[in-house]
Amino acid sequence: MALSSNPRVGLVGWRGMVGSVLMDRMQAEGDFALIEPVFFSTSNVGGALPAAIASFAKNETTLKDANDIAALKACDVIITCQGGDYTKAVYPPLRAAGWKGYWIDAAKTLRMENDAVIILDPVNMPVIKNALSKGVKNYIGGNCTVSCMLMGLGALFKADLVEWMTATTYQAASGGGAQHMRELLTQYGTLNAAVRPLLDNPASAILDIDRQIAATQRGLSAEETKNFMVPLGGSLIPWIDSDRGDGTSLEEWKGGAETNKILGRGPGFGTEAVPIDSTCVRVGAMRCHSQSLAIKLKKDVPLADLEALIQSDNEWVSYVPNNRMDTVKGLTPVAVTGTMNVAVGRVRKLALGPQYLGAFTIGDQLLWGAAEPLRRMLRILLAD
Ligand code: NAP
Repeated sequence: MALSSNPRVGLVGWRGMVGSVLMDRMQAEGDFALIEPVFFSTSNVGGALPAAIASFAKNETTLKDANDIAALKACDVIITCQGGDYTKAVYPPLRAAGWKGYWIDAAKTLRMENDAVIILDPVNMPVIKNALSKGVKNYIGGNCTVSCMLMGLGALFKADLVEWMTATTYQAASGGGAQHMRELLTQYGTLNAAVRPLLDNPASAILDIDRQIAATQRGLSAEETKNFMVPLGGSLIPWIDSDRGDGTSLEEWKGGAETNKILGRGPGFGTEAVPIDSTCVRVGAMRCHSQSLAIKLKKDVPLADLEALIQSDNEWVSYVPNNRMDTVKGLTPVAVTGTMNVAVGRVRKLALGPQYLGAFTIGDQLLWGAAEPLRRMLRILLAD
């Protein structure tokens, strides 16, 4: 179905972490000029558009009810960053009501459905184009960690060089959403306040500071740990998302399942899946998901050839030479956050043997891992 010019595009979840970044990017890329934006809300129905988005509006100037199926049905495209519970509640009745529009979603709910494509067009444009030609209407953003990894190392998969891969991830607080980011900063503030007098005194004993911090972390209130359940400031949490009951987290499962689906691999596509195993860890970074990877290659390829392959895959790969100074300057969340670059570094052959490659990737998960594939999908529809 070709879109009419100036299609009605419903935007749900524009106030959240992903949604705010999406609004920024759509504005920066001039997307609003090509659409009639319709803003929805679950918490301020009927309210005037807040200043942050008011300038993007054309004819629609108040917030519509995000649970109103008739209002949603009037849209040609819906882009939602509202979350999985919203998708579960609204998507089935909307389709049941006969809506034939395009559903573009950041949530995981529909990702593995047969009638949905996981979108990451610099990596899987052929999969997206094939689905469009078959009339597929659901285009879902991938898991943030998976998308950032594939933007960095997609070249190795495209060249069919990967026999298997293991990842240890270092995922930022913002991966959980706006409230999680606030909670992390609140915790850091509480920790700093607890030792401020000791820090101000150069003669204070470091073990006193250390003991005070540990006691404060352990004593954080339920309110201060409402989102992460335990302290994250000055700590880490080696479990993300739900418990699958087999010793793995849902986040870890996504690493294998979604990577293969994005690439159009696995039994659903009549090919063998690439085995991918992960340990997913939440760390006290604000933005950016990082991961340390060990890759078994199908054959021994010279390191220089692998480096050239990775660097030439797409314009956003920012290759960091494997030395100390380039790494500490360029391969950190602070260096990458807020940019479209996906940094790839620490690329080296491992002591395990010539077919084993190590690498470290960092991407701003709110950009390539969430908002950017959604707005690019809208552009693909507009160009179709
Ligand atoms: P979020 O920040 O929690 O926002 C979701 C909704 O929460 C907002 O649209 C807003 O809805 C409501 N909200 C309540 N209090 C808020 C506050 N203080 N500030 C802003 N919004 C608030 O969630 P998110 O991280 O954007 O995630 C949205 C979806 O994208 C989820 O399905 C998530 O799994 C997925 N995703 C997230 C990331 C990531 O890195 N965060 C990456 C990939 C995919 P109302 O305006 O209607 O009240």
